Amino acid sequence: MDRVEGGLEKFRIFRKDDFEADWIKVTERSFGQVYRVKVKLWREKCALKSFNTTLTGTSLYRRMIEEASKMEKVTFKYIVSIYGVCNDPPSMVMEYMSNGSLDRLLTSHVLMWPKKFQMIHEVTMGMNFLHSMNPPLLHLNLKPSNILLDDHLHIKISDFGLIKWEEAGNKKEFIENLTARGNIFYIPPETFTLCPEHPGTKFDVYSFSIVMWEILTQKRPYQAGKRSSTTTVLMKVSSGRRPGLENIPDDKPQECEQMVTIMQQCWDQDPRERPDFSDTVRKTEALSDILGIGGCSNGDKTHKPDYTMLSPIFRRKSTCSLANPPDTSNTRDDILNSLSRKD
Ligand code: ATP
Ligand code: MG
Repeated sequence: MDRVEGGLEKFRIFRKDDFEADWIKVTERSFGQVYRVKVKLWREKCALKSFNTTLTGTSLYRRMIEEASKMEKVTFKYIVSIYGVCNDPPSMVMEYMSNGSLDRLLTSHVLMWPKKFQMIHEVTMGMNFLHSMNPPLLHLNLKPSNILLDDHLHIKISDFGLIKWEEAGNKKEFIENLTARGNIFYIPPETFTLCPEHPGTKFDVYSFSIVMWEILTQKRPYQAGKRSSTTTVLMKVSSGRRPGLENIPDDKPQECEQMVTIMQQCWDQDPRERPDFSDTVRKTEALSDILGIGGCSNGDKTHKPDYTMLSPIFRRKSTCSLANPPDTSNTRDDILNSLSRKD
């Protein structure tokens, strides 16, 4: 493993033999593969995201690697850590997230409302962190498959900053790059206009609103896969249509109304009307607290143990008190099994 000068810090370049031989393929995609590997020296599992070899050698690929080395310096609880890059195979080496991605969890398990609110708030915290950097780090690829879940089903945002407007050469390529990744739902309407401006933070705010809708409804927007092609979604969104609120389950708590208001502000047709994450994060914090996990809003400032890892098994609690704390020895499988599986 080499350390190479890169600005103020040094970043790591891994070699193939820095990893144990047993690589486990997590996914195979047209853009590349994700493997679970173990770093010999650290004795720790990592994820290795490799890029398709047709990309390697291109300026796009070189910039991706450059960006990855900058991201190594971004460390925050709700952001996936980047450990370095590997030249063979060309890839990024990052924190391994044992519970996969949010898109899979949303289709496989029924989440309870406190957990939904907590996840929304955690995404807001991660995005607020990226946008509060100087200059703001734009994600431009925020979607449930880039929201990963740790051992305790807390979220971390992944694959930020890899898509660049300037890289694409022109707007058409930028949109094509995103749509080829199945991202049409997360692209704000102003991107489809004849002369779109350079995307800013409000691009991500829009993508977040669709992620919020997916967490609240546990459905895919615009009846994906049934009767919506890329062009129909593009036309609907450009004319101001958004995913339907009738898909939010009826058993919602009354606080859901405020969540919906935030979501609607975030998907406003006019990007200037969309709130910054620094504003939204305070609101999602309050709402998440009210539902009783991830904190108590009853004025009791004493430290409480964190039982949020078990939150999926709780229905809404009437008070914040955990008089009989659950046995925290549950394994990750127990936690997942305790969620209701979708048929
Ligand atoms: P994009 O390239 O636009 O980000 P994507 O998110 O659908 O598209 P990948 O980033 O290649 O595709 O990830 C595919 C899947 O691999 C994720 O949905 C997730 O299940 C898994 N994955 C990705 N990164 C990690 C990681 N760090 N730890 C564990 N699993 C991961
Ligand atoms: Mg991804």
